[in-house]
Amino acid sequence: MPDQYGTLYVVATPIGNLADFSLRAIETLQQVDLICAEDTRHARTLLQHHGITTHCIALHQHNEDHAAQGIIEKIQQGISIAIISDAGTPLISDPGMPLVALAHASNITVAPIPGACALIAALSTSGLPVTQFSFLGFIPRTSSARRNLFNEKKNSTETWVFYESCHRIADCMNDLASVLPPDRIIAIAREITKMHETIIKSSLQDMRTLIETDNNMRRGEFVVMITGAVIDKKEEGLTEQQLKTLKALLQECTIKTAVSLAVEITGARKKLLYQTALELSSNNQK
Ligand code: SAM
Repeated sequence: MPDQYGTLYVVATPIGNLADFSLRAIETLQQVDLICAEDTRHARTLLQHHGITTHCIALHQHNEDHAAQGIIEKIQQGISIAIISDAGTPLISDPGMPLVALAHASNITVAPIPGACALIAALSTSGLPVTQFSFLGFIPRTSSARRNLFNEKKNSTETWVFYESCHRIADCMNDLASVLPPDRIIAIAREITKMHETIIKSSLQDMRTLIETDNNMRRGEFVVMITGAVIDKKEEGLTEQQLKTLKALLQECTIKTAVSLAVEITGARKKLLYQTALELSSNNQK
């Protein structure tokens, strides 16, 4: 990176409790020359709370494509800049992507100042499997588009997570219920780090009832998490190609040899191949 360039800092801010702000985040925001904030008035409350007086300019979804080049030029002149969003980690369902992408393309150092992120706070407290997950961001606003999305995800074996508004949370539960079995385990993290913080894990059916019957469960900010589908290995069959190979081998060899060769050739499970071979040969004898 050219020595004279400044740095672009991507700084996470609290998602509720103002104390969830790292010392390094505060120091960075005090030391940079300029802060790009999603909403400067909103940022001022947070910055004042921590005695940060750095000048702020607006960088939001409506101006970021246009404004990014000018900000990059400032950094190339040696100015260090931080980007913050209204809450949590910038770029995570928030503005910042064009600026960070352009910084990389312009050989500028991009440094993370990590901190709160609703997605991660929710997953880490949900009790759902989190070794692998997919994040869908904000999901579509119409019921039909939501159902299409849920249909695409319903057989995914990893946990899936999305952000949803209080205005659509009840409809969203109905759409989930139209696609997933009632016993699918889901979790909701609501108002994380705020006074009415609620983290609940339950069956889809129970969650739907709770949201329908408790008005408070339709207020505030939500992260919704769905456990991945459990695929029953016993129900997994051979692929068309594996079956074709097995049939061809059975024409020429004994069941035992055909199965051993099919394991080698197709990589399918021996037990499954053997069961299928027995079924095929008993069908042939009928
Ligand atoms: N960049 C943020 C982050 O790192 O989480 C997300 C910003 S996105 C515009 C706002 C959405 O995040 C909300 O509608 C809600 O779904 C989720 N969210 C933000 N803060 C939350 C909180 N305290 N509790 C639950 N969900 C929250």
